[in-house]
Amino acid sequence: MRTLDYTRATSPEQAISLMARNPATVYLAGGTTLLDLVKLDIMQPDHVVDVHTLGLNQIETLSDGRTRIGAMVTNTQLAHHPRIKSDYALLSQALLSGATTQLRNKATTAGNVMQRVRCNYFRDGVSACNKRTPGSGCAAIGGHNRSVHAVLGTSEQCIASHPSDMCVAMAAIGATVQVQGPSGKRDIDFLDFHLLPGSTPWKEHALEPNELITHITLNAPLAGSRSAYLKLRDRASYQFALASSAVILVLDGQVIREARIALGGVGTKPWRAEEAERLLRGAPASADRFAKAAAAAFKGAVPYAHNGYKVALGQQAIVHNLMTLSGGVA
Ligand SMILES: Cc1cc2nc3c(=O)[nH]c(=O)nc-3n(C[C@H](O)[C@H](O)[C@H](O)COP(=O)(O)OP(=O)(O)OC[C@H]3O[C@@H](n4cnc5c(N)ncnc54)[C@H](O)[C@@H]3O)c2cc1C
Ligand code: SF4
Repeated sequence: MRTLDYTRATSPEQAISLMARNPATVYLAGGTTLLDLVKLDIMQPDHVVDVHTLGLNQIETLSDGRTRIGAMVTNTQLAHHPRIKSDYALLSQALLSGATTQLRNKATTAGNVMQRVRCNYFRDGVSACNKRTPGSGCAAIGGHNRSVHAVLGTSEQCIASHPSDMCVAMAAIGATVQVQGPSGKRDIDFLDFHLLPGSTPWKEHALEPNELITHITLNAPLAGSRSAYLKLRDRASYQFALASSAVILVLDGQVIREARIALGGVGTKPWRAEEAERLLRGAPASADRFAKAAAAAFKGAVPYAHNGYKVALGQQAIVHNLMTLSGGVA
């Protein structure tokens, strides 16, 4: 059993300076990812800084129509917020499809963004895993890679899929991650926050050392838009996505004025399908066009021994959402 020092921070500045004093310090939010990984000995901090008491638990509408979410807003609070339910339905649906009620009551917005992969070889602590032990190899590439491994954005070093549902909705909506660190505050575009594994799979995000996420600000909702999140998985609850799609659609009659699509379960990061969006913009809302867009989203997909089915499943997740949002088409 690992013993940890615990400090409840009272200001972002104090939290950041405590982090800077000792490289084995980590921020603690709801603890639903962190404490599991500590118990498995995958993460080995000797000091946790609790960031619950920094007042970062508000959801505010900004004067320009954007919505600012405090880093410590829980997944439950966010999913049930009236503005999120009315203007960002896909985000509420994505959050409610994740984990369980008890976990969502503890899990925070920042913690969800920072959650780590569910690859069994990463978590078993002994298999070859470049993410856990750089240079050791990747047991998943020649091993069991059916459910929590990606077909988009993979590299020869790592193929783990990004596990979040919430982040897929945010990737479709467009958002900014606000962070504060030893050298001040800065903004990171949500699509640039999670990194592809490339040759450095242990680098998962764009945070600099000791930076604290303070808020995530969602872009203003598109006028006249409708949206949906669809998660396909092995069982109906308490399970990560095999494939998911977050879709925002604006229609002018039966013509698509605007489309935003992001995918989960199939990419090594929350995956924005920009080529599919381009094919839909200005096109008729037809089953044929939806199928072409879905195919474009998976152009360049690299299936592994057991997860090739994700290409078809992911395409179906897109088409189903587009059909539903357009009211069914001929
Ligand atoms: C059994 C189980 C099932 C799950 N199923 C799903 C699912 O279906 N879909 C889904 O999306 N998720 C799922 N999750 C993941 C869950 O959503 C995350 O565990 C949760 O969102 C993490 O939030 P937290 O507040 O508990 O983070 P913590 O566990 O407290 O922290 C996670 C990481 O974030 C860092 N961190 C926390 N706050 C900050 C901050 N402000 N700035 C910088 N770094 C910070 C921590 O240091 C840590 O590294 C599941 C988890 C479990 C345990
Ligand atoms: S897929 Fe990534 S996380 Fe899983 S074993 Fe390979 S390197 Fe590790």
